[in-house]
Amino acid sequence: MRGSWVKSMVESYDVVIAGGAVMGSSTAYHLAAHPAFSGRILVVEKDMTYQRAASALSLSSIRQQFSTSINIRVGLYGASFLHRARETLAVDGAEPELSFRENGYLYLAGEAGAAILDENHITQTAEGADIALLDRSALAKRFPYLNLDGVVRGAWGRKNEGWFDGYTLMQAFRSKARSLGVVYREADVVAVERDGARATAVRLASGERIACGAFVNTAGAAGATKLAALLGVDIPVRRRKRSVFVFTAKERPSPFPLIIDTTGVYVRPEGEGYVCGVSPPESDDPDSDDFDVVWPHFEEIVWPALATRIPAFEAIRPGRAWACHYDLNIFDHNAIVGRLGAFENAYLAAGFSGHGIQQSPAVGRGLAELIVEGRYATLDLAPFAFERITENRPLLERNVI
Ligand SMILES: Cc1cc2nc3c(=O)[nH]c(=O)nc-3n(C[C@H](O)[C@H](O)[C@H](O)COP(=O)(O)OP(=O)(O)OC[C@H]3O[C@@H](n4cnc5c(N)ncnc54)[C@H](O)[C@@H]3O)c2cc1C
Repeated sequence: MRGSWVKSMVESYDVVIAGGAVMGSSTAYHLAAHPAFSGRILVVEKDMTYQRAASALSLSSIRQQFSTSINIRVGLYGASFLHRARETLAVDGAEPELSFRENGYLYLAGEAGAAILDENHITQTAEGADIALLDRSALAKRFPYLNLDGVVRGAWGRKNEGWFDGYTLMQAFRSKARSLGVVYREADVVAVERDGARATAVRLASGERIACGAFVNTAGAAGATKLAALLGVDIPVRRRKRSVFVFTAKERPSPFPLIIDTTGVYVRPEGEGYVCGVSPPESDDPDSDDFDVVWPHFEEIVWPALATRIPAFEAIRPGRAWACHYDLNIFDHNAIVGRLGAFENAYLAAGFSGHGIQQSPAVGRGLAELIVEGRYATLDLAPFAFERITENRPLLERNVI
């Protein structure tokens, strides 16, 4: 009894990270690898199987086709990180195989969307992204299997865009972090204690109390909003369900990028088949905590759109499907990264919607810099700061999926 009392009184870490999926593990790794940091790091993760974490159920695609400079820069850094992840994240000579397929994204636009693609292209090119604008004849030449009815323009990422194994990236961050001394514990953070503007300790469902020098909230769609509320901060991040459908087709059109149709329906190859889906309109996108697949999305929206755009997909064999949740920032659909509200030592990375896996290298590195150096030393992530919400300055992103 006395032993456990002493243990609970003395247990303390310099940094406690709540949520140990891709964002928490990237942050843990970048902190542990930071040359000026020698503190102790604890990652508290409530489900080490990760079976319901977005990081395990995402489509793990990466792009620079955003409309805001910060997202483009983060996407470029993500791609460069993937290119050298084998060496960076190797543990005892074992290198992670992330299978980065640089097939690009292909955004298709009709009359209404063409001007937006053109404007985005100017920003993307200025930031160094290699995106080609294709007119109808260039599209027909490069992607001859497309039915281009209603399409006037396409934007295709020639390099640094595509998809990879996001689950392996998460596990690689985790293994590397552990090899550098980070401690992982399977437990549920149920309370965060504060003293004025400082977070002082977390409490676990077991009743244990762990003091912290800094607290990082990377608890994703299921937990980030709740943990922020425990510290009295209301973040506009909501849990919104997305269904992913798998199918196979007799024909294998090639070359095949991640195609985003004018309808918003997306499709890309995965193994022997394809994965596809669509984000529902905001008016039909309630908060959700179930994992039930919304099959009508496939039958009524996704498959009809695909069969029209790619005639080879008129005959397909539908397969399995799964559902998981975006941590959607309903304020402006962009990530919220940095200090949590007015706290001096509490940090947040949440609200990534459909692009958190690709943003995890830049965000983990940025948070580590902020915690250790008090500033962003490499890529300035200030546009993602929480203050934009309290000051009502939305960071509007037009390319949200
Ligand atoms: C269907 C789908 C497709 C996607 N496609 C892409 C894509 O193509 N490209 C891309 O970049 N992104 C994609 N995303 C988004 C991406 O998956 C997420 O943005 C990213 O995984 C978020 O990572 P995270 O670590 O912040 O959150 P999560 O992966 O949700 O992890 C949060 C972790 O916190 C833990 N946790 C929660 N509460 C607590 C608590 N109280 N105590 C301890 N632990 C707690 C949870 O168990 C969980 O493991 C997709 C998402 C979905 C749902």
